[in-house]
Amino acid sequence: MTSTTTEINRSFVLRTVKNVAFEDRPVPKLRDEHEVRVHVAQTGICGSDVHYWQRGRIGDFVLNSPIVLGHESSGTVVEAGSKVTNLKVGDRVAIEPGVPCRRCDYCRAGSYNLCNDTIFAATPPWDGTLAKYYTVASDYCYKIPDTMDMEEAALVEPVAVAVQICKVASIRANQTVVVFGAGPIGVLSQAVAKASGAKKIIAVDISQSRLDFARKYAADGTFLPPRAEEGVDSVTHAEKVAKMIKEEFGLGEGADVVLECTGAEPCIQAGVNVAIKGGTYVQAGMGKENVVFPITTACIRALTIKGSIRYSTGCYPDAVHLVASGRVDVKSLITNRFKFEEAEKAFELVKAAKEGVFKVVIEGVQ
Ligand SMILES: [Zn+2]
Ligand SMILES: [Zn+2]
Repeated sequence: MTSTTTEINRSFVLRTVKNVAFEDRPVPKLRDEHEVRVHVAQTGICGSDVHYWQRGRIGDFVLNSPIVLGHESSGTVVEAGSKVTNLKVGDRVAIEPGVPCRRCDYCRAGSYNLCNDTIFAATPPWDGTLAKYYTVASDYCYKIPDTMDMEEAALVEPVAVAVQICKVASIRANQTVVVFGAGPIGVLSQAVAKASGAKKIIAVDISQSRLDFARKYAADGTFLPPRAEEGVDSVTHAEKVAKMIKEEFGLGEGADVVLECTGAEPCIQAGVNVAIKGGTYVQAGMGKENVVFPITTACIRALTIKGSIRYSTGCYPDAVHLVASGRVDVKSLITNRFKFEEAEKAFELVKAAKEGVFKVVIEGVQ
């Protein structure tokens, strides 16, 4: 199937910081014979999309020219390059939004999330998936079973992020896990930890409604940390919070694994303090670039401290399977649905971060 000359690629474009617009762009051509063109069906919005829209940069990635937004998408293959063997026109797919160079040492070691030359959707200078069509390497598209709908397939993306977090943490059966943050990545990490056999999962957040959801979803217990008392420094307070968590949930000397999915300084400090000696602490949340970190505690407890970013070899197939098998339910995360024409409204809603708004999805162009 080839595109007709009259067809256009309606796209939701971030032109400059805080300035978005719909543009009718030409239908993208396959860049090589291994690519497919996907008619996008559903796109989830995540914090990073909103961040680029509001600030125009995340770390080294700076918006210097317009980009199409969106990176959590599903769709149907409408065109396949001559060398594509894994997919055919009509296949329904979950799109992995980052295609690495495949040749560098990181790629060859399987850590392709570290590749310096990744084409990542909606990360400057690369266009994202909030368009009618998106072209992508066929091996970064995963055919989904008939039982999986397009919303679920779009939300395979944040599940893959959670799979990587749990993989970095090497979560094993019967471990205790404390997860800071009960937003989408936090609760999905709790669900993946549970699917990995964790025996007790405790969710920590400052929002009671998010904790209520986490408790129904995958957490075995929830904790809302108290505010620091007047005159008590943050490090002392973090030690107190950690002690409260350990006592309330019978974690003994501490949790085997701590997953930090907020990036908030008080959570980072409490997280290090709640880990058991020899335990693992994984930083997945991003907040302030620099924080006061309890480095002596980390050293004395011989913690393994690791960072987690995006996803690596095997995460996407695992995430598709977790969703397809029903072991991770993504459907119940969706609170708001928008038509493509309402994309800006969808972004405004995510930005406002109102109580009750959890995961927002945007339908593709018909
Ligand atoms: Zn995302
Ligand atoms: Zn590479």
